[in-house]
Formats: sequence, structure tokens, C-alpha cells
Amino acid sequence: MRDTGVLIDHTYPLVLAGPSGSGKTTAVRELLRRRSDLRFSVSATTRASRPGERDGIDYLFLERADFERMRDRGELLEWAEVHGELYGTRSENLEGARAEGVHLVLDIDVQGARLVRVAVPDAVSIFLLPPRGAWLSRLRARGSETPSTLRRRLRTAAEELGAAGEFDYVLVNEDLGETVDRVEAILDAEESRVGRVGNELNRFVSMLEMEVAAAQTEAVEGEEAENEGTGDTQ
Ligand code: 5GP
Repeated sequence: MRDTGVLIDHTYPLVLAGPSGSGKTTAVRELLRRRSDLRFSVSATTRASRPGERDGIDYLFLERADFERMRDRGELLEWAEVHGELYGTRSENLEGARAEGVHLVLDIDVQGARLVRVAVPDAVSIFLLPPRGAWLSRLRARGSETPSTLRRRLRTAAEELGAAGEFDYVLVNEDLGETVDRVEAILDAEESRVGRVGNELNRFVSMLEMEVAAAQTEAVEGEEAENEGTGDTQ
């Protein structure tokens, strides 16, 4: 956790969702580069790895049977099927981050985000919207292998857009640096939220109250001494 003088006494998951092509993954990467109080949640998935992706770092690439076993043993905080493949967040990711005192950052789809909000009510969720225009051409280009891939990609994008209003925060990702600045501002604000600082707030306020009480006693004694000096009894 950063030493910013905030009172937060427990960490929380930060969920980032948004349609394909919203720049979510790049934003998450930049956010993690900037801050040391965050830890990326490595998802388990049944999809094949893409060039450059590292097993256990970008994703945990699993056979379907292994994924299903993990899920059936109740080891997943949430899971969803996206484009025919299974994706899920292991509960141990969250436990590990909590133990280490860092916030877990989840780059997941809207179905998963819903499940996390239910399972972990103090999670912070942000929906990233792509800017208008270029986004759709990018999405079209990406899904152009076959008409059915494109159709599926567009349908998912439409469904995901419809979920924007369910999130705590929504950002239009016009500029990567600005978007990440805003995510950081959200994190900073969350760390001062009264509902989040709980025990730490009580502890800190009690100490201040004790100091006030001691100062009050001193003030009364001072006043009494002054009154004795002047003979004024009021
Ligand atoms: P991709 O295959 O392009 O990396 O990811 C496809 C979608 O699955 C993205 O929206 C990504 O955020 C989402 N995703 C990645 N990991 C998880 C996960 O653990 N759970 C859920 N529900 N979605 C995930």
C-alpha cells in the first residue's frame, strides 16, 4: 500500500471491463507500470495462447478439463464463457493480494464483473468506453477473418456496451495517459471513502479525541489557575 496518509485498512479488487478494442488491456498494463500498490490478476483460460503471451504471467492456459475441475472445486471467484472459451479468476489471486496489502486488478468481461460485484461488494468497477469512430473500424478489422467471427464480435460488443451503466465509474478512453490518470484519481478517492476506512477511522479518531480531552483538561486547569490568580470564580 502507498504511504499517502490515507486511513484505508483493507485493500479491494479493481475491476476493469469494456468492449473489445476499448484499450482496456493497454490501460491496465500502464496502470500497473505506474503503481506498486496494485497486482494484476492472472486469469485462467481455455483459449490458446497468442504470440508473445506468457503462461502464468498473462494468463494461466489450461485444458478445458483442468479448468472445469478448478471451477467445480469452487476455486474460482468468478468465471464466464467468452466466444466459446472459458475464463476465470482464481480466488487465491484475491487472497494473495489481500495478504500482501495490494489491490487486485481484474481485466475481465462484463459477466465476470457482475459476479465479482456480488461476491466482493467493496470492489471498485470501472467500465472503459472506446472513443467513437476509429473503434468500430478496428473492431471490424480484428474480426474480419470470417463473417461469423465479425458478427459474434459485434454482438458481444453491443452486449458489453449495454452493461456500462452497471459500473461504479465509466471512462471514455480517448487518450491512454489521461485515462490512466483518471483511474489513479478514482483509486486515490476510494482510499478516503468513509465506508472503506472502517476500523482505521475509529482508531484514528479515538486518538484525536484523547488528545482533545487531554487538551481540554489542561485548558480547564489553566483557567482555574488564572481564576485563582484574579479571584474570579466564574
Ligand atoms: P482475450 O481472449 O481477448 O484476452 O479476452 C477476451 C475477454 O475475456 C476480454 O473481455 C477479457 O477481459 C475477458 N477475460 C479475461 N480474463 C477473464 C476472467 O478471468 N474472467 C472473465 N469473466 N473474463 C475474462
